[in-house]
Amino acid sequence: MQKRLLASTVISLSLFTCFLIDENQVSAQSKPSLRAAAARTSDRPIVQIVREIDARNIEKTIHKLVSFGTRNTLSEQDNPTRGIGAARDWLYGEFQKAAAASEGRMTVEKQTFEQPKGTRVPQPTMLTNVVATLKGTQTESAGRVYVVSGHYDSMCNSATDAKCDAPGANDDASGTAAVLEMARVMAKYKFDATIVFMTVPGEEQGLLGATHFAEEAKKASMDIEGMFTNDIIGSSLGANGVRDPHTVRVFSEGVPSNETTQEATTRRSVGGENDSQSRQLARFIKEVSELYVPTMKVWMIYRRDRYGRGGDHQPFLERGFAAVRFTEPNENYQHQHQNVRVQDGVQYGDLPEFDDFNYIADVARVNAAALAALASAPARPKTVTFPTSLSADTPIRWEANKETDLEGYEIVWRDTTEPTWTHSQAVGNVLTFTMKGMSKDNYFFGVRAVDKDGNRSPVTYPRPLPRAPRPDQSTQQPPP
Ligand SMILES: [Zn+2]
Repeated sequence: MQKRLLASTVISLSLFTCFLIDENQVSAQSKPSLRAAAARTSDRPIVQIVREIDARNIEKTIHKLVSFGTRNTLSEQDNPTRGIGAARDWLYGEFQKAAAASEGRMTVEKQTFEQPKGTRVPQPTMLTNVVATLKGTQTESAGRVYVVSGHYDSMCNSATDAKCDAPGANDDASGTAAVLEMARVMAKYKFDATIVFMTVPGEEQGLLGATHFAEEAKKASMDIEGMFTNDIIGSSLGANGVRDPHTVRVFSEGVPSNETTQEATTRRSVGGENDSQSRQLARFIKEVSELYVPTMKVWMIYRRDRYGRGGDHQPFLERGFAAVRFTEPNENYQHQHQNVRVQDGVQYGDLPEFDDFNYIADVARVNAAALAALASAPARPKTVTFPTSLSADTPIRWEANKETDLEGYEIVWRDTTEPTWTHSQAVGNVLTFTMKGMSKDNYFFGVRAVDKDGNRSPVTYPRPLPRAPRPDQSTQQPPP
């Protein structure tokens, strides 16, 4: 809260007087409650999960995946030691081992489909997503799904060269190994909502495995509330010479990829280009993961992906699912999509020697903390609205959550230039609340749900209700 906002008109209003006395006093009210969260009983599993993630398992997985020579999507499918088929079968076996510790909650499937001929697919090819589903245990939440994914295919210079060695140790054995390690650790724990641990092929051919999964999910009306793709999370040393093992980039789009013309018109009128559900997901990841993995900084990048590039979160975004991308902070293009070779004394190729296994484990911890928190929390509130009518106050309303362990809701807000939510206020188990003396012109507001253990959902950004007719239109019409 800026001190300039503490004008007499605001401070005289009773409800928020206590919040608006001093900037430092306000932040002092919300932050200790977050720190205290780590000590609460309900949070111990997250602390334990973060601790159990082991860089040595990640290292072993990456060496195993590299040992298949190539994992190009067009490579051999029935050779037990070389090609994408060998990688697929090995991953399937490893996810099954992870599922064995889940007391039946985790099931593993090969989702196989035929990809028709296309730009980077010279002939119809069978592709297989390896999908491990850890079923949620709360009746009202089991249908709510979070997906974490990495792509297990690789490429050298050419995406259609199925023969060349394509170790893909970083792109994307790193993401694949992180997902497998999360499945191994998290299978033993119970969550309210469902988590899908997925490894997919065909990324280098045009996001094919992820597209198939997202399309099937849409057809089945699956309630995917968040998707994380981990792609190139392997190295802490960039081509710029910077070694930074304490930062991971999380890319999130502001304007939704599937925005309709009508939604765009509304957004231009009321704002919200910085408040898509994917952006709320990125803020949630930053808030939760930096609490549980304090050595890591979540560097939110406010764009869908790197400049002109893409990833497996896109097919989810295009179908209306919130999704983000995790990537190392500084890439090295000599180690991506390169034939393995030494040229002018420089080693090219995506080799395991350029991976930092401890760093990958830390990125997996960031993912796991956020996933565990999401799947432990209630669903984010639905149909959050406020009227467009002119008022010095801001009334907000929302639909009731269904969880039986729901404690209530919190209103969050921030100055319009702030990147993350700066303030929160518990408002109890109600379905409407009025922010007295705070105009929706001057702040961004949101609502989140909280359960009895203090688990908080991601924030939902309100949408405007159609303007209600006024008794005296001639004097109160808002300016055009
Ligand atoms: Zn990749």
